[in-house]
Amino acid sequence: MDKTTDKERNIVIVGGGIIGCTTAYYLTRHPSFNPAVHTITLLEAAPSIAPGASGKAGGLLALWAYPDCLVPLSYRLHAELAAEHDGAQKWGYRKLGCGSFDAIVSRQKIQTLQQKAKAEGEGEKTWEKLPKQNGAAKDLLEAGNLPQDLDWVDRAIVDNWSEMGSPGSTETAQVHPFHFTTTIAKLAQEGGAKIRTNAKVTGINSSKTGVESVEYLDREDDETKTIEAVTDVIVAAGPWTSRILPRAKIEGLRAHSVVYEAEVSPYAVFTDIQLPSDFIPEHRAAMGQKRRHKGRVDPEIYARPFGEVYACGEPDTLIPLPETADQVEHDEAQCDDLISYISTFSPVLASAPIKAKQACYLPRHMRFGQEAGPLLGKTTVPGVWAAAGHTCWGIQNGPGTGKLMAEFIFDGAAKSANVDKLDPRKFKV
Ligand SMILES: Cc1cc2nc3c(=O)[nH]c(=O)nc-3n(C[C@H](O)[C@H](O)[C@H](O)COP(=O)(O)OP(=O)(O)OC[C@H]3O[C@@H](n4cnc5c(N)ncnc54)[C@H](O)[C@@H]3O)c2cc1C
Repeated sequence: MDKTTDKERNIVIVGGGIIGCTTAYYLTRHPSFNPAVHTITLLEAAPSIAPGASGKAGGLLALWAYPDCLVPLSYRLHAELAAEHDGAQKWGYRKLGCGSFDAIVSRQKIQTLQQKAKAEGEGEKTWEKLPKQNGAAKDLLEAGNLPQDLDWVDRAIVDNWSEMGSPGSTETAQVHPFHFTTTIAKLAQEGGAKIRTNAKVTGINSSKTGVESVEYLDREDDETKTIEAVTDVIVAAGPWTSRILPRAKIEGLRAHSVVYEAEVSPYAVFTDIQLPSDFIPEHRAAMGQKRRHKGRVDPEIYARPFGEVYACGEPDTLIPLPETADQVEHDEAQCDDLISYISTFSPVLASAPIKAKQACYLPRHMRFGQEAGPLLGKTTVPGVWAAAGHTCWGIQNGPGTGKLMAEFIFDGAAKSANVDKLDPRKFKV
């Protein structure tokens, strides 16, 4: 009899974002999983699943994402999951066009859109980009004509259009992240995983030989509880990971987004918008404020299934990561900035109702001031595993991470991809 599969395992997953949920799912789908001897418990600190970035991200999937050791596996698994569980209906899985354009918004254009207000230069800052398109991704951009069916931007002011990959390519897809994560959590539960919400992990007790127990605060009862005889803990706490594993050096970076109610053609667009020098968003002018950005802004906009369009703005460091995901606050004015910039080049979105204004924290694994890719695998503490720090591509890389974590646990090693370079022990985690 195989020793690893026959041994009792009491596995605890910390975090009910996409990484924790896909890990629970693939553990229950692993051929060695035996509910008679294996227990899987997912603990989520917030009152519901996907309360953070996994419920508030854009949902873009791309073969040109990073890191390249994880992307192809995860992109393929997204397609397989969608085929197996009717992902098109349940979480809006579909292929979509993707590209980038520049636009120059003229002063006259703004005058027709908004009341003109006098600009003053103080307090301006340069727009900061989310790190989604790295150098390799930008190399894939092919100059071309704005697609005819991309009719929700003002064609008259779009300066150029570059498609990501070849026209009609199958290199970009999308899911609705909240629906994906919550459905995968449900499937994991049906497969035998237990899910506890309002359960904030406060400590992992371990000895030199392994993990002993996991303590958590039951936020409903306001009581500390302990899960005894734990054999494995997988920390998938996104930007909160370093609060449990301080050596992980994962930081949270807040980013705002808005969701429109609009049915538009399926494109994800990266933009580079040159605003007139005297442009002040109306809401800031009304508050007697000055403009916030120098000339250029780069919002990203994704048409989404289920009659939605998602747009995200720049990250900020104004508010540190709160204790739990349900305490994350958004800054109304930053969401309104985004809406106002987008209205300069999309009349369709300018008149669409706003469904949500929100913020969440990007989990970034930082070393020497730079992003160092996700941590995936064994840590230096026997029985403690890390699966965190997926920065801008955690939705794309969720299934691959979950699959590999299940292999680590039941097979003793990652089999479906070589992720040695993401080994947490390399970073002394
Ligand atoms: C604006 C924006 C747009 C994005 N767009 C995309 C995109 O288009 N495509 C893409 O691939 N990625 C995108 N991302 C990135 C993606 O959202 C993240 O990489 C991914 O959601 C991270 O998942 P996670 O499970 O690691 O973290 P999270 O979703 O943050 O989940 C971590 C969970 O752990 C829980 N937790 C924390 N501490 C504890 C504790 N002590 N005990 C119990 N539970 C705990 C939290 O409550 C949370 O639910 C985007 C991110 C942002 C911010």
